[in-house]
Amino acid sequence: MVTREMSGVDQMIAVEMSCAEAWQDISEMIDGTLDDEMRKRMAFHLRHCTHCKAIYDGTLNTVQLLGDDKVIEMPPGLGERLFHRISAELF
Ligand SMILES: [Zn+2]
Repeated sequence: MVTREMSGVDQMIAVEMSCAEAWQDISEMIDGTLDDEMRKRMAFHLRHCTHCKAIYDGTLNTVQLLGDDKVIEMPPGLGERLFHRISAELF
């Protein structure tokens, strides 16, 4: 579903994406596997939702922290597991 109209697009995105939907994609956002469309929707949601932003930031910080340490090999799906861990602690 794509609209070229500038007015109301952001509003539509905000209404369209629920927190539950955002949570499904946060790990993919962090793993970098989201396409541009979804990344845009996610970025918009994160700008307006402090809960999801907190989860996203917390997960991203942890992933980056681990990623900077070359001793630790980043296993695929780490972002998703961290996200579940962090979201469980926040809610
Ligand atoms: Zn949210």
